[in-house]
Amino acid sequence: MRPSCYDSIRHTSGDSCWFFGDLGQSEVLRFGVHFLPMGSALINLAYLLAAVLFILGLKGLSHPRTAVRGNQLGALGMLIAIVATLLDRQIISYELVILGLVVGALVGAIMAIRVQMTAMPQMVALLNGFGGAASALVAGASLIESSLPEVAPPVPLVQLTAATAASGIIGAVTFWGSLVAFAKLQGLVSDNPFQVGFLHYLNGLLLLIAIGVGVYLTLNPSAIGAYWVLLAIASVVGLLLVTPIGGADMPVVIALLNSYSGLAAAATGFVLNNNSLIITGSLVGASGIILTTIMCRAMNRSLRNVLFGVWVPAEKGPKAEEVYAGKVKATSPEEVAMLLEGARYVVIVPGYGMAVSQAQHAVRDLMQILEAQGMRVDFAIHPVAGRMPGHMNVLLAEADVPYDHLKEMDEINSLFEQVDVAIVIGANDVVNPLARTDPNSPIAGMSILDVDKARSVVVIKRSLSPGFAGIPNPLFAADNTLMLFADARQGVQEIISALKAK
Ligand code: NAP
Repeated sequence: MRPSCYDSIRHTSGDSCWFFGDLGQSEVLRFGVHFLPMGSALINLAYLLAAVLFILGLKGLSHPRTAVRGNQLGALGMLIAIVATLLDRQIISYELVILGLVVGALVGAIMAIRVQMTAMPQMVALLNGFGGAASALVAGASLIESSLPEVAPPVPLVQLTAATAASGIIGAVTFWGSLVAFAKLQGLVSDNPFQVGFLHYLNGLLLLIAIGVGVYLTLNPSAIGAYWVLLAIASVVGLLLVTPIGGADMPVVIALLNSYSGLAAAATGFVLNNNSLIITGSLVGASGIILTTIMCRAMNRSLRNVLFGVWVPAEKGPKAEEVYAGKVKATSPEEVAMLLEGARYVVIVPGYGMAVSQAQHAVRDLMQILEAQGMRVDFAIHPVAGRMPGHMNVLLAEADVPYDHLKEMDEINSLFEQVDVAIVIGANDVVNPLARTDPNSPIAGMSILDVDKARSVVVIKRSLSPGFAGIPNPLFAADNTLMLFADARQGVQEIISALKAK
């Protein structure tokens, strides 16, 4: 039986527990801090501090004003957790850790610098996928290590194998599901949704088999081959789960996979007996599922519908010709400039088109010019404008638009009746009044920005093409609406030139 530090307390000195009997150097190191009452208490205290910092960090991230500080607190928590883990597990090779840090930092920095803002969702998908894969591999490595006769598992074998199985299943589903999400958003494979009735049953069956293999592994810890079988089956589940879902629904799927990656990490925390990993993984799991719910609610869709339904634009509902015929009024930048000259309160409503044309800097310039002329300018932010949560906030922050100019939907909707000119820039579904008026519409019941209540509305987009939901928008044909058909950035720049020419 393996001796414990407590048995040979006479050999301890200070904070360290030194075991020289018949154990090798690495064994001594392994037991050095891990089994010490003092050492492990300190390590757990460090983990607790890290967890508190993570929670404070998340709280800070909930508001733009405190987000930078929140990020710093989270980073500090991560530093403390990493240092504590390195001290706790002295058996690891520091050379490998440093090599991993250097390679990871290099790849991460290059990706972060090169990625386009519009490609951020697929970058997040990749990061989630790697997190899931790392959890599954680390848990697998621990399983293999624990099968060696000279190594004592860090936790009871039943806990280790059960948690490894959970980490393997969730991690593999996350990895392969995220790769499919990445490929769809990057245009590497078709992003069209499709429905194959039996696919979900097949997937359910495969998931049950994977769980069955996990139970077998738990009962037979030495049957390590079962872990690879489990990984293979769960990988197919991940592929089949995401492949039928359309590219437009990928942001919701990515938020869900983010949650899964946290659960996989938490399971690996149980494998390694690492409290920090358990807490961090649970926080990621919980925040991912909260984000998924918020997105589904804002899009007025259920998660079941996103995962298992195929969303095609409604056949019912008004056709584009009926909505637009003879009613759309095109305008020019000069006419918009004239309209703005008489305004006191202007609200800018950004949408996906602003992201596509990268118009945020031009939009900021327009705001500054209008403010210099004594107008009040606010931005109306819909929670699902664009293609990822916080899409508009990120773009406007990048252009240094002050936070206090960004108004959330509930706040700005009560103000639209006082707005002289609402300028809609590349937004469509989030300002579509059909959500309020047509119960058959795919966006029926979705909360929208009540732009149509403003005195005048200017919409900048290239054509009358529909947005994400694929339906016409009566706002474009409303009496108080003028359409400026242009690329968002070009249109805004032309309005600025017209304002300056006055
Ligand atoms: P939208 O309804 O998708 O409409 C975007 C509009 O932008 C299009 O009608 C397009 O019209 C225009 N556009 C594209 N490129 C442009 C350019 N270069 N210059 C000017 N206009 C351009 O966008 P939204 O109003 O932001 O609504 C977001 C939609 O995405 C919602 O239906 C939401 O449910 C969905 N969604 C959001 C998320 C999220 O997390 N934010 C996730 C998944 C789905 P033209 O082609 O005529 O220019």
